[in-house]
Amino acid sequence: MGRPLSDPLVERMRGFGTTIFAEMTALAHQTGAVNLGQGFPDTDGPNAMLEQAVEAIRGGLNQYPPGPGLPPLRQAIAAHRKHRYGLSYDPDTEVFVTVGATEAISASILALCEAGDEVVVLEPYYDSYAAVIALAGAVRRPVPLRPTAPGGRFTFDPDELRAAITANTRVILLNSPHNPTGTVLSRAELQHIADVAVDRDLIVVTDEVYEHLTFDGVEHVPIASLPGMRERTVSISSAGKTFSVTGWKIGWVCAPTQFIRAVTTVKQFTTFTSAGAFQLAVAHGLSREMEWVEALRSSLQLRRDRLADGLARVGLTVHVPQATYFVLADVRALGIDDGEAFARTLPHEGGVVGIPTAVFCDNAEVGRPYVRFAFCKRDDVLDEAVSRLVSYAGRHPS
Ligand code: PMP
Ligand code: GLN
Repeated sequence: MGRPLSDPLVERMRGFGTTIFAEMTALAHQTGAVNLGQGFPDTDGPNAMLEQAVEAIRGGLNQYPPGPGLPPLRQAIAAHRKHRYGLSYDPDTEVFVTVGATEAISASILALCEAGDEVVVLEPYYDSYAAVIALAGAVRRPVPLRPTAPGGRFTFDPDELRAAITANTRVILLNSPHNPTGTVLSRAELQHIADVAVDRDLIVVTDEVYEHLTFDGVEHVPIASLPGMRERTVSISSAGKTFSVTGWKIGWVCAPTQFIRAVTTVKQFTTFTSAGAFQLAVAHGLSREMEWVEALRSSLQLRRDRLADGLARVGLTVHVPQATYFVLADVRALGIDDGEAFARTLPHEGGVVGIPTAVFCDNAEVGRPYVRFAFCKRDDVLDEAVSRLVSYAGRHPS
């Protein structure tokens, strides 16, 4: 029997539906709720960088840039990685530019995984990981991140990591600083992962889009900087979070040449290239705006504290993150055990949108009690959300 035209989606993408970010942002519009769901800032990136993009468009940079990205951006990415982490990449052969980190992740997994290969991910995992692993016909193997104590930092058990590796494992798809838990993996934790990768001859694909947004002096360590790791690591980052330009979708990959060749083989057919004007502006950002980024980091840390204090006043148990845009709140403190059901009713009943973390988990128990709230918003927006939550909690005593 033929497959019906009325239901054309391929089998491997069934179950993915609409992303939780689009769904919850639509719910915020529909209900008038304060949107602390999707992680995008409500203030702009550095002015001079925005001007660069405008000037580049006016100056005629409006045709296809080279597939690997404009040379000034590739040079700026390589110089930044060298300066910040001491990692050397050849801008001509070991760096290329993508449509956001999202395309870098997709192209990497599609290029590196045969159908049936297994990909180890930290759970909760960013939603595009699951989708692209499925598109590749690969299999995800989640390793849970759990808090060390109520309200504590999330980490993984090295024994569970080892147990997740099988003869079919090909890639460890890492994310540190981690969305949604806010954990920055320490050098010791990364060493566990590196040991497993070297031992089992695995590739590590590492998503570092929050590399600059760490708090309280916590240091982001790229796993590629650990001994034996550079040659097996595909490092991914993007301009969206660093420069508050999530809509520009300029991302990049740094990796040894053979990985770049493999990943660009796919990338040249997914989009070929991305907007030159934004690429040029991001090159300016990486070389001239790192002080602006430092100010953003400090301001985000204050806003993290503002939201975390507010959520604690509501009566939630708050996991204060070491990095990113997000705090996780444990709703069990309100006498509720299903964070997903809570997050889906909250826009209607409390006028606030958060993201349930259970949707990022295979083992729903791992994410069930938590709702993620974004603090990359103006103070007045955070205050309004907290005041609505306080009033909601007053109407629903636990
Ligand atoms: N990875 C993680 C962990 C993210 O939170 C996001 C959202 N910024 C992305 C990847 C996607 O990044 P981009 O917008 O650059 O595609
Ligand atoms: N990375 C953003 C977040 O975690 C969302 C990106 C998206 O909407 N796909 O909120």
